[in-house]
Amino acid sequence: MHIGILGFGTFGQFLATHFREVDFHVSSWSRSDYSKQAEALGVEFTQDLAAFSSQEMDILLLAVSIPVFGEILGRIPWHTVQADLVVDVLSIKTFPKERMQQILPHHLDILCTHPMFGPDSGARSWEGLNFMYEKVRIRKDATCKEFLHFFESKGCSMIPMPCEQHDQFAARSQFLTHTTGRLLSSMYLSPTPINTKGYESLLTLMEQTTRDSFDLYYGLYSFNDHAHQELSRIEQALRQLRNQLFDREREERETQIIGIQGGEGSFNHQACMELIDKYSIDSYELRYLITSEKVLKALNEGEIDFGVFAIENSGSGTVLPSIYSMSKYSHEIIEIHHMPLVQCLLARQGQDVSKAQQIITHPQAIKQCAKTLGATYPHLSSEYLSDDFDTAECAKRLGEGKLPEDAVVIASKTAGERYGLQIVEEGINDDPENMTSFVFCRRREN
Ligand code: NAP
Repeated sequence: MHIGILGFGTFGQFLATHFREVDFHVSSWSRSDYSKQAEALGVEFTQDLAAFSSQEMDILLLAVSIPVFGEILGRIPWHTVQADLVVDVLSIKTFPKERMQQILPHHLDILCTHPMFGPDSGARSWEGLNFMYEKVRIRKDATCKEFLHFFESKGCSMIPMPCEQHDQFAARSQFLTHTTGRLLSSMYLSPTPINTKGYESLLTLMEQTTRDSFDLYYGLYSFNDHAHQELSRIEQALRQLRNQLFDREREERETQIIGIQGGEGSFNHQACMELIDKYSIDSYELRYLITSEKVLKALNEGEIDFGVFAIENSGSGTVLPSIYSMSKYSHEIIEIHHMPLVQCLLARQGQDVSKAQQIITHPQAIKQCAKTLGATYPHLSSEYLSDDFDTAECAKRLGEGKLPEDAVVIASKTAGERYGLQIVEEGINDDPENMTSFVFCRRREN
């Protein structure tokens, strides 16, 4: 039996080693130079595709990576191929079956196979290891029988199966296995002094799957439609599991934790209190997380159960940091809550506002009051510290004497009262309605 292996990478060489053990004549072609490896195995090697293809052989075995299979198939000068049978060993099956049926001349028989093992799992013995195959187009049965008999004689469990069915099963078994191994590798799993047997199995899985090329993994995903669904199922299952843990934790503490974008006394705080009332949340704890990014991150990490943050104001427009954060973290919107905002100019008790030089506040507040400030307080410059300083935080700092002597702030009346400030002017917002939309959200269920 003469087998020509096209693609002399890891798997091609692995098969060649075993074919040589039973004295099959093996020749090979590869893009890279494997002449030394081939010589050591007693295998002929060439990088000349035309010369390789026109050799007299019984079987042409295709063992190239999945993503390049179609392209290589198009490059083979098929009219010169003298083999009886063309076999592929790709780890996905519908794609090579369809391509070979389209491209191969009718005089060539086609056998699609998937040896469900590799250099690691099949290192010691092939006893009991699965070998899937479909006789796609077989007229010279003798060559096909001899090829299949080789694997049978080594103890493989021979499984005839349509390629389409293989791909359905493989998305679940093989793609899931490889994805798990690669996930563990992304987490840099390493041995510990207290390994359990289960953990050692994970380490072995990680090592085995990442030893295969990324081309192979990509092929398992990209050339099997079922794998796309499987990837979504993995993500969904992880989310469900996390939610189960978070929900249990919440049940045990019997208190809802609500994270809000602003600080204590902010408009977000005010909106949150309206929502707590509306949804009759009796037992709650508030976390003042200042930015929408921190709210959504905490929601995803199970630190809070609900989140509140602003997304739009009738005067100042879209709150862009909220929109960017919403695209980054998953969440489920319970309600978009609309609330009018009354902005106030606040100063320290006894402070002479005519001597103030600057307003320290959040840019959203400045945007909402720009015209009024320009007309009534043109001598005040506006200063913005960072996103961590919302209007309430600025009011708090002014009350604590932590802002410059010549500073005043813009914030809500509630914040002014809470931090003992003087309300210089109430309702300095340009738009008398000044409606703001707040997102009230929870974690996504699935
Ligand atoms: P792979 O990365 O899937 O394939 C490597 C082979 O593809 C090498 O021969 C490589 O040639 C060739 N190749 C890659 N890009 C090429 C290009 N642009 N032009 C020409 N050749 C190209 O790794 P593998 O493990 O050896 O797998 C080979 C095939 O066997 C795959 O289809 C895989 O699904 C299947 N398979 C693998 C296993 C396993 O355990 N590894 C098990 C069952 C089936 P060069 O090295 O010459 O560049």
